[in-house]
Amino acid sequence: MSGSRLMRAVRVSEFGPPSVLRLCSDVAAPQPGHRQVLIRVHACGVNPVETYIRAGTYARRPALPYTPGSDVAGVVESVGEGVTAVKAGDRVFSMATETGGYAEFAVAADQSVHRLHAALSFLQGAALGVPYFTAYRALVHKAHAKAGETVLVHGASGGVGVATCQLSRALGLTVLGTAGTPEGLKLALSNGAHLAFNHREEGYTQKIMEATGGRGVDVVVEMLSNVNLSKDLQMSAVGGRVTVIGCRGPVEINPRDAMAKESSIIGVILNAATPEENRECAALLYAGMEAGWLRPVVGAQYPLADAAQAHHDIIECLGAAGKTVLIV
Ligand code: NAP
Repeated sequence: MSGSRLMRAVRVSEFGPPSVLRLCSDVAAPQPGHRQVLIRVHACGVNPVETYIRAGTYARRPALPYTPGSDVAGVVESVGEGVTAVKAGDRVFSMATETGGYAEFAVAADQSVHRLHAALSFLQGAALGVPYFTAYRALVHKAHAKAGETVLVHGASGGVGVATCQLSRALGLTVLGTAGTPEGLKLALSNGAHLAFNHREEGYTQKIMEATGGRGVDVVVEMLSNVNLSKDLQMSAVGGRVTVIGCRGPVEINPRDAMAKESSIIGVILNAATPEENRECAALLYAGMEAGWLRPVVGAQYPLADAAQAHHDIIECLGAAGKTVLIV
């Protein structure tokens, strides 16, 4: 592919509100280097962290200008030297594009590029990477969840929540999910949750405790710890593990709640996963695509030109209903 090829891509030239996301049509398409894959992007997942980075409030600030986005699904356009696992024409997904996913073409390291099963659309493929790898990291690598245990997916209606419900069910857990709207509750129930509770309803934690016979939950996968961490510790069973996935600020807890049940609070950050851990996860996810229990739910969809609206909505709109995706 010629180095002068131009593509459409969303660019950020200054940190700020969603309006700093600008669609440009004259961005130089990247080229794959050693052990890199060039992907013709069909769809790109929008993750909340991309809004924090764009705003300039996140610990990591990329050099400007940059193209946001890491989760893409598409077709391999070409491969760099040393790539053997995929070839031009393969349907793939990646959660770690290096040049940005809100673009027609993106480059990713070959170890982060995985085959997309024919049963999944490109839109579903764009909902796979960060959500499912995070769910797996929290449940398996961090909480060491075992079949027969009970998990509370606190925030079960969004990208990571739906993934966690599907994976938890496949792992043989009893799955309790929460959502903030009737649609979200339905979504949790149709994606693996045995029971669903409304986290905007007064007294819902009491109902969760009743559902466990007063014993509490073994594992919590928490999407909004700054609101829920104290409640999670109170709902924990003896030896429970609370995994912190999402957090938008500080929170006060009573450490006695952890002491009394010898429960643990475990931070989860996907970027810390090793290549071996990611390989293990990718193998399980592909098995899930083959077996049919892994079926990402695509929620709000936007054309690339409306990336700013997508950033606004993913933070401001109440009521997630699956994964937010950009169609490229
Ligand atoms: P998303 O699709 O926007 O979903 C957000 C979820 O949070 C929805 O299920 C929403 O439910 C729920 N929520 C809202 N208010 C809540 C409350 N009071 N209690 C419990 N849940 C509540 O976002 P996502 O992609 O699933 O990501 C979720 C969080 O995890 C984000 O903060 C993201 O930045 C973070 N994350 C972290 C990692 C990591 O490596 N640590 C990786 C991926 C994501 P309703 O809309 O139905 O109310």
